[in-house]
Amino acid sequence: MTRFSAFSLFAKALGAHKDWPEQWPDAAPKTTYDAIIVGGGGHGLGAAYYLAKKYGITNVAVLEKGWIGGGNTGRNTTIIRSNYLYDESAHLYDHAVKLWDGLSQELNYNTMYSKRGVMMLAHNVHDIQSFKRHIHANRLNGVDNEWLTPEEAKAYCPPLNIAADARYPVLGAALQRRGGTARHDTVAWGYARAAAALGVDIIQNCAVTGIRRGADGAIEGVETTRGYIASKRVGVSAAGNTSVVMQMAGLDFPLESYPLQALVSEPIKPTFPCVVMSNTVHAYMSQSDKGELVIGAGTDQYVSYSQRGALHIVEHTLAAICEIFPIYRRVRMLRTWGGIVDVTPDRSPILGKTPVKGLYVNCGWGTGGFKATPGAGDLLAYTIAKDEPHRINAPFNLDRFRNGRLIDEAAAAAVAH
Ligand SMILES: Cc1cc2nc3c(=O)[nH]c(=O)nc-3n(C[C@H](O)[C@H](O)[C@H](O)COP(=O)(O)OP(=O)(O)OC[C@H]3O[C@@H](n4cnc5c(N)ncnc54)[C@H](O)[C@@H]3O)c2cc1C
Repeated sequence: MTRFSAFSLFAKALGAHKDWPEQWPDAAPKTTYDAIIVGGGGHGLGAAYYLAKKYGITNVAVLEKGWIGGGNTGRNTTIIRSNYLYDESAHLYDHAVKLWDGLSQELNYNTMYSKRGVMMLAHNVHDIQSFKRHIHANRLNGVDNEWLTPEEAKAYCPPLNIAADARYPVLGAALQRRGGTARHDTVAWGYARAAAALGVDIIQNCAVTGIRRGADGAIEGVETTRGYIASKRVGVSAAGNTSVVMQMAGLDFPLESYPLQALVSEPIKPTFPCVVMSNTVHAYMSQSDKGELVIGAGTDQYVSYSQRGALHIVEHTLAAICEIFPIYRRVRMLRTWGGIVDVTPDRSPILGKTPVKGLYVNCGWGTGGFKATPGAGDLLAYTIAKDEPHRINAPFNLDRFRNGRLIDEAAAAAVAH
């Protein structure tokens, strides 16, 4: 594997970037593996990397039906934060934020993680009370979060309209300074490259079409569009398609899949220094390094697998963006797209074992799993390697929908990311 450094990049520049080698081989499936990961998004690729790196399980295949990172990993708005309300969630998401910190060095691949701060706007008394409750709960868990007055919020993000007669008045904001963004593709590519260097097979254009179980019910392997592959351990990390894949093993999952949309503007000069979210009016924004305003909307109201959402959803979002940031009213939108997000009843993920021996799952991240990518990959790898969940993901089991020990983050995840 080419080791990236300032010198190696400089040397490539001298050669006009003409001789870049392949970053990971396009592997053909073998007949058997020690572990298979279904889904080549950031979570699945991360799990494969940590299986190889931390547990020495290198005979691993990642099976991706399209191209790696072509699912929600490559479609999201890349917001990273950990200011969730409940203890279980704070531990889970902060585990990921801590891993983001050293990820570029760990993978020798620039993930462009930028801690520019995530600010959540309060527009009414309920928002103020709810965000202050989050701030106190977060601080008890060692997660940074602070309250800003409208003037402090404007100082942090100058384009913000804090006029008292605004349609969506800003009454204050919660700011997590460690929050920010990263470059989505690099996370998939960085994990793929590092995992492949440790011996993992990254197999694209390979859809899993069936799951084979033995007479004792345990996992034996998977049917794919490229033939049968045997493995006693299968981890499913297929985001919006998880319930479809789980049905192949005879399991019904408490998931609903909705389209979620995002859009970007034409590139403009750097004017927007942080991430601003408004759950109440269902809009949030940041600015990419290319200069595009990156804008996210809420989910459609109807379940669907169409990977495109309804127009009125983005219209509503843009109307709100124009009210909150009037300086951008004349900016033109460049493109919109959608992804299919897998939503659980309590808006928290499911990460752990399943009732089928040898079958593990990581799903239900809904609108907000990009931020969790390194943490989810790490914890899925732990769960597969040890055949038991880590204490951080233990509460995020499937049984909670039977025994009622829900982790209700609906308030944190109404639109949020
Ligand atoms: C518009 C949008 C904005 C978002 N914004 C944010 C945000 O700002 N912050 C945040 O934290 N989260 C955000 N999210 C959510 C986030 O993108 C996801 O939670 C996260 O990327 C999930 O990662 P993953 O690796 O599990 O899924 P994916 O990247 O979707 O990977 C799953 C892979 O499984 C593959 N697959 C499915 N079925 C099969 C099969 N049968 N066989 C083989 N492969 C299969 C798919 O092709 C896909 O590549 C957003 C999502 C969307 C759609």
